[in-house]
Amino acid sequence: MSTEISMPEEDLDPIVISELQFDRAAPHVQGLKTGLVEFLKKPKRINIVNFPVEMDDDSVRSFQGFRVQHNRVFGPCKGGIRYHQDVTVDEVISLAKLMTWKCALLSLPFGGAKGGLICDSKALSERELRRITRRFTSELFNELGPYQDIPAPDLYTDEQTMAWIFDTYDMLRPGFNNRPVVTGKPVSMGGAPGRHEATGNGCLFVTQRFLSKALLPDLQDVAGARVVIQGFGDVGAVAANAFHRQGARIIAISDSKGGIYNEAGLVPENIERHKAEQGSVVGLADSTPIDNQALLELDCDILLPAALGRQIHAGNAASIKARLVVEGANNPTTPAADRILQQRGIHVLPDVLVNAGGVTVSYYEWVQNQVNEQWDYDTTTEKMRAKIQAAMDTVFNRWQAFVVGEEPTRNHLPDFRTVALVIAIERVAHATLMRGIWP
Ligand code: NAD
Repeated sequence: MSTEISMPEEDLDPIVISELQFDRAAPHVQGLKTGLVEFLKKPKRINIVNFPVEMDDDSVRSFQGFRVQHNRVFGPCKGGIRYHQDVTVDEVISLAKLMTWKCALLSLPFGGAKGGLICDSKALSERELRRITRRFTSELFNELGPYQDIPAPDLYTDEQTMAWIFDTYDMLRPGFNNRPVVTGKPVSMGGAPGRHEATGNGCLFVTQRFLSKALLPDLQDVAGARVVIQGFGDVGAVAANAFHRQGARIIAISDSKGGIYNEAGLVPENIERHKAEQGSVVGLADSTPIDNQALLELDCDILLPAALGRQIHAGNAASIKARLVVEGANNPTTPAADRILQQRGIHVLPDVLVNAGGVTVSYYEWVQNQVNEQWDYDTTTEKMRAKIQAAMDTVFNRWQAFVVGEEPTRNHLPDFRTVALVIAIERVAHATLMRGIWP
């Protein structure tokens, strides 16, 4: 499956994209002082580490990793670590910023961070991944901490990765309760029941709340909705199950090896079994193969990108036929695509809100770890549902204030992403000034 994007006229640099998103929100932010703009656009700290690791065949390879801390105004930095061959420091900077806005929008006592390690995890053995992760963690030891910076899973990292990070940190800092140093741990090691499912479940909860607002009069419930999902990992597979359980029809889904389509609906349980046996969703019985581009452009009610960034862009936004885009992934839609989709009347529920269920339950895990308690799945999931749906309401109500003219639109009605960022930036800017950080 090709992930290449052919549209020279749009600048796809992740920093440029995050600045454009900020610049669209900034004119609507109340009390945003000029000097603060530069401060909020830049990360507080960028850590780049290079380290050698002995491979299974006795060769030595050098790896490069990043940990970017964007902002600490609301508390310790929080954000996932991704392993990907294409990850860059600029991408990690933009994702760390997004975490700051996400935590602020959900009223979580964290600032934003993100980590990345350049590697193709699928080409590495488990023993190699363990050695790489342990070394990466020890390189970052001085930056991490339960009240300093708390990693979590992201693309191609999982609870096993988090267990290795915890163990390495715990060995280097004996005699303390180090459990809250990382979230998304295995449940047996202080992980929160429901964390694995949180991001995918959150996608459903935000969609349900949005549809109940009746902005799309003939689509007020996910039951019966035709859903297309890009990605079948932690976010995509859980979202597929969650939407399917509520009566939605999953008509197409993909992973890095390709996509599958069946207008009558795919059963997530069967896809999971097939993927576990064959290593991909491709080839599932009673499905037709479909490539990534065609999948994104399918006629459907809900398109849920849950894989990589910059998938909906100036080159394909005019061909998107979904009625609603629900961003499970981070940064799947570029600013040019946002404008095109808005002109075409297609609403985009943004990443900063939609996939915030993950960090919300990570926060619950962090809270539980302080006192060595563990809540059950239903308690955690219900708390997250209430919190993320309240955030949806806040964004929707503020958006309506622009629609009815209570707030000036400045020649362009802000979309839901812009409104969510206005709220988040306003909160971070206000807290920054309240803390009196100026000399
Ligand atoms: P994951 O590694 O568990 O799964 C990624 C999935 O994407 C896999 O199924 C992979 O095969 C698929 N994929 C990769 N390249 C693809 C391509 N070109 N076309 C189609 N599918 C492709 O990762 P994840 O944790 O599910 O994260 C997915 C996205 O969600 C990322 O953007 C991540 O930043 C975001 N996110 C994740 C969480 C979380 O809690 N895991 C929270 C917030 C945001």
